Amino acid sequence: MLTFTEKESLMRYLKNLKNQQVSIGFVPTMGALHNGHLSLVQKSVADNDITVVSIFVNPTQFDNPSDLEKYPRDLEKDISLLEPFNSKLIVFTPSISNMYENGLTSDTYFFDNLENEMEGKHRKGHFDGVATVVSKLFEIINPNKAYFGEKDFQQLQIIRKMVAQNGQKVSIVNCPIVREDNGLAMSSRNERLSTKEREEAAIIYQTLKEVKEKFHSENIETLNKLVTERFLPYANMQLEYFEIADEETLKSANSKEANKKYRAFIAVFIGGVRLIDNIALY
Ligand code: AMP
Repeated sequence: MLTFTEKESLMRYLKNLKNQQVSIGFVPTMGALHNGHLSLVQKSVADNDITVVSIFVNPTQFDNPSDLEKYPRDLEKDISLLEPFNSKLIVFTPSISNMYENGLTSDTYFFDNLENEMEGKHRKGHFDGVATVVSKLFEIINPNKAYFGEKDFQQLQIIRKMVAQNGQKVSIVNCPIVREDNGLAMSSRNERLSTKEREEAAIIYQTLKEVKEKFHSENIETLNKLVTERFLPYANMQLEYFEIADEETLKSANSKEANKKYRAFIAVFIGGVRLIDNIALY
């Protein structure tokens, strides 16, 4: 498996491949890989001649320095998880200075307000950081297809918007959420939970499923109250937000309209660990 640590050498290598009409899939990650990430890699490997997996904990998308510091990192384990894909894979692990040659700043983006909903409200500058790093990575790799998980549904919609706004040719592929046996959405941050917290965190997906079951029979106000109640018994969990939103605009909905697709979104703190999840309500 080829590993590059500098964008310049990766670009040179990929240019050669592109001249030979090789199709390139791209899976951006922040490492601490789990089966959610690997499902994206599998799909890309099946769809393309070569897949580039980037592993880069992007500082500009963290609004909280302690979250950045505590973000799990284990490059050796990541490489061993990717090893089975071997000849179909290129791993890109750049340094911060190689990615941010002109200083650690993000550009400012406008995505028709998608960036100001939910995660955008609660993590200031988060999507500027995400869009900045994904733009840089797209420029370096210039993939035919790029794979993003529905786990970060708002991010996925923002990347789609960014590509449309820039007229970029890359096609964005959605991948379904991969879950633990108890329903908890897989996340690198789960590593920071204790065994008990990991078990209790099952309530997040259980609640989302309950909302989905009741979505057609109950109104949104009732469902919002129900979710708040479900978390009350858990002293170590704080519900940061729960919203039922239009899947396209990501605007919070107070009532249901025909012909719109809705999705429920949730962010919960368990101890100091922030987890997000979502579910389609159709
Ligand atoms: P991250 O390393 O958290 O930046 O995630 C890298 C990519 O993997 C993003 O497109 C995520 O949406 C995706 N991803 C993370 N967790 C999951 C999961 N449980 N299921 C599917 N995709 C995921």
